[in-house]
Amino acid sequence: MIHFLKSFSLWELLKGLSLTGKKLGAKKITIQYPEEKTPQSPRFRGLHALRRYPSGEERCIGCKLCEAVCPALAITIDTEERDDGTRRTTRYDIDLFKCIYCGFCEEACPVDAVVETRNFEYHFENRGEQIMKKEDLLAIGDKYEEQIAQDRETDAVYR
Ligand code: SF4
Ligand code: SF4
Repeated sequence: MIHFLKSFSLWELLKGLSLTGKKLGAKKITIQYPEEKTPQSPRFRGLHALRRYPSGEERCIGCKLCEAVCPALAITIDTEERDDGTRRTTRYDIDLFKCIYCGFCEEACPVDAVVETRNFEYHFENRGEQIMKKEDLLAIGDKYEEQIAQDRETDAVYR
């Protein structure tokens, strides 16, 4: 009987229309991307980068922890020992088609070398471009270093 009355009085429709009416004057949460941007967390996980120390020396010591922890097997590293006894990478590739942006690599890195930047607006036009090489990653790190350093500072409380 109740079901019949509800169907007869178009109860569900009225309920839906009342919700629409309530939201009609409410503040809009949609934005006009790309002209407008939503706020980003300092922990945002976008395009990867490799960082350097202020002296210009690359931070990465070739320990391969990031490669070992990566669940998607997206990182490939080769290393060699320098004349001064330090170890550095000769190859550092990240396949962004494999990457699931989990952030494990940056969590595992003992020297804050590999990080994920706030940049999510990138694309590839040719086959193979999705494999970011060491030089590309260092260049991204150089470009966004100020923002990366600031985010690491803000975010330190969570680490
Ligand atoms: S973000 Fe995750 S999946 Fe991507 S390279 Fe780092 S560890 Fe691998
Ligand atoms: S990026 Fe960090 S974790 Fe990965 S090899 Fe270099 S130092 Fe080790």
